[in-house]
Amino acid sequence: MNVAKYRVAPGSKVILSKWDPNDKSASSATKDESMERLRDLATRIDKLQDVLYAERKRSVLVVLQGMDTSGKDGTIRHVFSEIDPLGVRAVGFKAPSDEELAHEFLWRINRQTPAKGELVIFNRSHYEDVLVVRVHKLIDQAECERRYEQINSFERQLADNQTVILKFFLHISKDEQKKRLQERLDEPNKQWKFNPGDLAERKLWPDYMKAYANALTATSTKCAPWYVIPANSKTNRNLLVSSILYETLKSLKMRYPKPSISLDGIVID
Ligand code: AMP
Ligand code: MG
Repeated sequence: MNVAKYRVAPGSKVILSKWDPNDKSASSATKDESMERLRDLATRIDKLQDVLYAERKRSVLVVLQGMDTSGKDGTIRHVFSEIDPLGVRAVGFKAPSDEELAHEFLWRINRQTPAKGELVIFNRSHYEDVLVVRVHKLIDQAECERRYEQINSFERQLADNQTVILKFFLHISKDEQKKRLQERLDEPNKQWKFNPGDLAERKLWPDYMKAYANALTATSTKCAPWYVIPANSKTNRNLLVSSILYETLKSLKMRYPKPSISLDGIVID
């Protein structure tokens, strides 16, 4: 799969209208072939995660951001479907509690970063503090830019300590969101997910797109790149995130540790 084009080059300006949420050009596979490929990737990711855990030299952090209904939960369910629950941890960040609000914005994030050998997925993240918070004008532009700097230096610090960071913006169109919100109204098994508050956020769509574009522009770095994932198609979305994660894990060239003692001649009776 050609995934490089979904990466935001550090220093480049993101204009989201130029990133097509319907783009499926990375793969010409049929739906059946894609499902098979997804299963295969999930198994491969599981195998690499086993080495990551055994090695305990480095950590992996996957950040998922996107508008309501963009598929953050579904991505986690599919991309990590084969992974050993012991080695992975998904953390959802909701509106901050009073205690969290009383601290600087990275406090609650810092406490959830992956340990050595661990793979952590952030379902929303520290980026909410330059997105929803900026859209609702709880901070001004100057503060927002200070936060970009703090985020870059925080992520740099993680990377310097052997954390591999991958950030995915799940990019859907406003029309696709309408369809998915409508499904939440219509399908009994999805109604629990319907949150009237999402309609208020939807009204602010252009403001969110601007906030995302600014954040992606300011914080896609060599050690913590952003990928803009065309996410109107769920299969395409899952395939892209799986492929990028798999290729990244593979590039680490991880090895199972050698036994610390000689195992020759040990007899189990
Ligand atoms: P959901 O992910 O749909 O369950 O909703 C979580 C909600 O928490 C979203 O509306 C987010 O915008 C909100 N949220 C997450 N982090 C923050 C934050 N730092 N400040 C304000 N709201 C937040
Ligand atoms: Mg929601």
